[in-house]
Amino acid sequence: MNIDYDVIVAGGGLTGTVAAQAIAYYSNQNLSILSIDRNPETLPGRKSNPGWTCGDACSKEAVDFMTERIKVPWTSPEIEHDVKGVMAFSPDKETAIPFDGDGYMLNRQKLPEIQNARTKKMGVNFDFDINLMGLIYDGPQVIGVQGINNKTKQPYKKTQAHYVFR
Ligand SMILES: Cc1cc2nc3c(=O)[nH]c(=O)nc-3n(C[C@H](O)[C@H](O)[C@H](O)COP(=O)(O)OP(=O)(O)OC[C@H]3O[C@@H](n4cnc5c(N)ncnc54)[C@H](O)[C@@H]3O)c2cc1C
Repeated sequence: MNIDYDVIVAGGGLTGTVAAQAIAYYSNQNLSILSIDRNPETLPGRKSNPGWTCGDACSKEAVDFMTERIKVPWTSPEIEHDVKGVMAFSPDKETAIPFDGDGYMLNRQKLPEIQNARTKKMGVNFDFDINLMGLIYDGPQVIGVQGINNKTKQPYKKTQAHYVFR
């Protein structure tokens, strides 16, 4: 079987790029890693056509955990300012849930741009504009991903030796 990459990360959002960074870090950059996302390279982090849906809040604990584990610190400008807690409201504003504790307000457009640049610097490859539609199996084992290249409308297929994360 032709192997394109050791590891394929399907969906290069926040989780995908942190996973790719962790794999690069813990493999001492000895594995070839591919991150695939349907967004164009110019719009990283976009969740849907309406845009970047997120409240932009993040706990200090989560950021410290990543910094300690994969040695990727988050700083300015992806962190805009510190907070002592956040309040989440239901859409009708009738219900409010407080989250206490130190945290940060993030710039949700800058964060994925910077996140992608750092991930690339760690040796991870990216394919953008790919709409993944399914997994490729060899018996019960997942051996790759397939979909469509949004730009060329050509079928897209990549195989891997170890894992597909999605
Ligand atoms: C309204 C709202 C408010 C939120 N507020 C907060 C908050 O304040 N704080 C907080 O910490 N979290 C918040 N979240 C949650 C946070 O956004 C998610 O936990 C986080 O984005 C999850 O990261 P992810 O990488 O799993 O998913 P995503 O960030 O959604 O990334 C998934 C990626 O996969 C790609 N993708 C999806 N399908 C395909 C496909 N078929 N082919 C190729 N690529 C594909 C997408 O383009 C995207 O880049 C909020 C979420 C919502 C909806």
